[in-house]
Amino acid sequence: MRKYSKIIVIIASYAAFALTALNIALRIPAYTNVIMGCFAAAAAVSVAILAFFIINFERERARKERENISRIMQSINAMAILWDADFRYVEVNSCLTNAIGYTSQDLSDIKTLKKVLPSDAFAPSLQAVVNNRDEEFYVTAKGGAKVCTIWNTSIVSVSSDRKRTRYLMLSIGLDLSESIRMKEDLIKYSKELAESETRYSLSMELSEIGLLLKASGSSSYYVSQQLRNMLGINSEYISDGVLRARFHPSDVMTFDALGGAMVNCAAQDAQDEESARTVHCTEFRLLSADNTYHWYQFRYKINPAETKLLADIGGAILDITQNKEKDSLIEKMAYIDDVTQIYNRNKFMQIGQETFECSRDSGITYWVIVLDIDNFHIINDTCGYTNGNKLLNEFGKVVQDSLTSGGFGARIGGDNFALLIRDIGDESLPVNIIRTIQDKFKTMCADNFSSQGMTCSAGYCKMSDGGEDFAKVLDHAEFSLSMSDGTKNDIIRYDNAVHDKIIKSAAIENELVKAIENHELVLYYQPKIHLGNGTLIGMEALIRWVRPDGTVVPPSEFIPVAESSLLITKISDFVLYEACRQNKAWQDMGLPPITVSINLTAVDFYQTDVKESIIKALDATGLDPQWLDVELTESLALKDIDHAIQQMQEIRDLGVKLSMDDFGTGYSSLSYIQVLPITLLKLDRSFIMYLEEDEISREIVSAVIRIAKSKKIETIAEGIETIGQADILKEAGCDHAQGYFYGKPMPKDKFEEFMQMKARESASVNA
Ligand code: C2E
Ligand code: MG
Ligand code: MG
Repeated sequence: MRKYSKIIVIIASYAAFALTALNIALRIPAYTNVIMGCFAAAAAVSVAILAFFIINFERERARKERENISRIMQSINAMAILWDADFRYVEVNSCLTNAIGYTSQDLSDIKTLKKVLPSDAFAPSLQAVVNNRDEEFYVTAKGGAKVCTIWNTSIVSVSSDRKRTRYLMLSIGLDLSESIRMKEDLIKYSKELAESETRYSLSMELSEIGLLLKASGSSSYYVSQQLRNMLGINSEYISDGVLRARFHPSDVMTFDALGGAMVNCAAQDAQDEESARTVHCTEFRLLSADNTYHWYQFRYKINPAETKLLADIGGAILDITQNKEKDSLIEKMAYIDDVTQIYNRNKFMQIGQETFECSRDSGITYWVIVLDIDNFHIINDTCGYTNGNKLLNEFGKVVQDSLTSGGFGARIGGDNFALLIRDIGDESLPVNIIRTIQDKFKTMCADNFSSQGMTCSAGYCKMSDGGEDFAKVLDHAEFSLSMSDGTKNDIIRYDNAVHDKIIKSAAIENELVKAIENHELVLYYQPKIHLGNGTLIGMEALIRWVRPDGTVVPPSEFIPVAESSLLITKISDFVLYEACRQNKAWQDMGLPPITVSINLTAVDFYQTDVKESIIKALDATGLDPQWLDVELTESLALKDIDHAIQQMQEIRDLGVKLSMDDFGTGYSSLSYIQVLPITLLKLDRSFIMYLEEDEISREIVSAVIRIAKSKKIETIAEGIETIGQADILKEAGCDHAQGYFYGKPMPKDKFEEFMQMKARESASVNA
């Protein structure tokens, strides 16, 4: 206020002085001077008041401006110093204080600030500021650490008073430590990258791997140096069209598929990471530097484009020509049959399995035909191995020529060939093809092997007829072929039921072997009765298989299996011995002696020395031959009549009885009865069953009995179940009877009781 009063006094003094001077000059009266002095004083006060307001306003504006600058300073993410030229005013922001560890109070002290900033930073010339030059220098943090910074200073406020113009300058600084580190890293990485690129190109060159890349949306491929060498091209980029033209005509589709794959991939969801990760692999031939087609393997990835335009595609490309050549040689060695030059069993199985799987999905089915050259061994034996091979070779050609479209032929082993034929809905197709092969084979043989009259047989099946894989289907066709009974040019279609039966037989056979070892086979006995007086005259030993769980398997289920596997001879030996032993045992017990009958089969009769076996059994058990009876079937006896007569006679000569079993079921030639040395004729149950109601049966039975009697052959009727049947047979003159009416086959204990009961019965009748 003192300052302002001073100004007013000065202004008033000047005004008074001016007025006095004016008065003197103009000789103005004194009262006028007073009035004018008053005006002058009032004007001076007004000016002083105005000056006061102007100065205050100016100060306020400067304060607000500084506040604003401070706020901005504090809010920016960079170091900032607000200062005036002579550092009488310094303000720093928190970014700077945080970076260097001093408080803003510390830094407002010029001494501290001088420690922080380098000395040359204290002389930022106005010119540098005006030139907007960046100053780069280190600032020293509290602990002494140097922080590299870059500063830019601008004038943010200008004010002036009577003495001078004052500037406020704002320096904004950035910490360069991070970017310096990045720069150093960058130099390091660039160096490493350069080294790695050198290593990479070297490895690409050494491993002969080329690169083929295509950017999304581009119409050309990038071709790496190595690939350029491989293809003999100079340009780093090759257009779609030029690359396509280099593809082998048969592989152009592969090239188009690559393009298609890119489009598809682009169409997929961009988030489909799975597809982006997948490495695809394809093979194709490309025209190469030496102007020939080479095989290449392309392992590539497609990166789905987010834009759903074409995707990036790229991968490694490798010349695999040599491997391909090796593969085809290996394939030839592994899959081509040496003798016929057609595919072998391995290939047939491979193609067959693939076809089988396709067939399951597509519903298209196939025929599988297996062929066997009838009596091929004769060619080998008589014409030599070379001619045998020649025949196989010719046959292979016939097989190949007979294939229909989509068919496949192979030599699957020895003289066996196989065909895979597409089913076109014609059930006669396989037979027609087989017949064609047979006809051609005959003609062909007429030229080279005319004396042999070669034929071939076939088995076939339809793929859809069953089997869990192709091996099973082929098994079926081979099985049907094995069903051929040796007939020439036989053709047999697979029959599931027959196959099942055979499989079941095989299972039974296995079990039977164990059953024999485990003594699970036992004999049951069925009584034979004298029709005239009802006495027990004999028993038939009938085999049973008693499983460990007690179930009894009837002979009809295992005797035929045993016959085909020759196990029957073991069984027959057992039956023969056991029947003789048991009969002798009962005789030794004092029971009335009776005959025991055993059943023998054609295998026993034709393939073993029956007489020897009988002698052994009788010797071993001590049974008198007259108490043993051997039952043979009519068909067995007629198989080789001369041999049969001789064998039967030898048995008879031992004193053993001979019965003809199941008479009436086979050829039933009564004339044979006259020549066969039998003692008993067993009328089959099939005659007996209808005796009561069927007149013809009665007449046949009577005639047979009559004829037998005339030949001094006794008769016995099998399967008598009623008294009516027994009466008719008795009437007809039949000697003996066997059937449920008299007693079912019984285990030995039961039969022993039966014998005792019968013995008591006879004793009481005789008494
Ligand atoms: P087979 O020699 O003709 O034996 C008679 C079969 O007729 C027996 O059947 C017997 O149980 C059955 N049978 C007897 N009377 C009647 C009857 O009144 N009604 C009915 N429905 N059936 C009656 P099994 O024991 O099942 O034997 C069947 C065939 O098995 C035998 O016929 C024989 O060919 C064969 N067999 C049985 N045991 C042996 C054996 O030890 N060795 C051989 N090789 N074959 C045997
Ligand atoms: Mg019998
Ligand atoms: Mg019988």
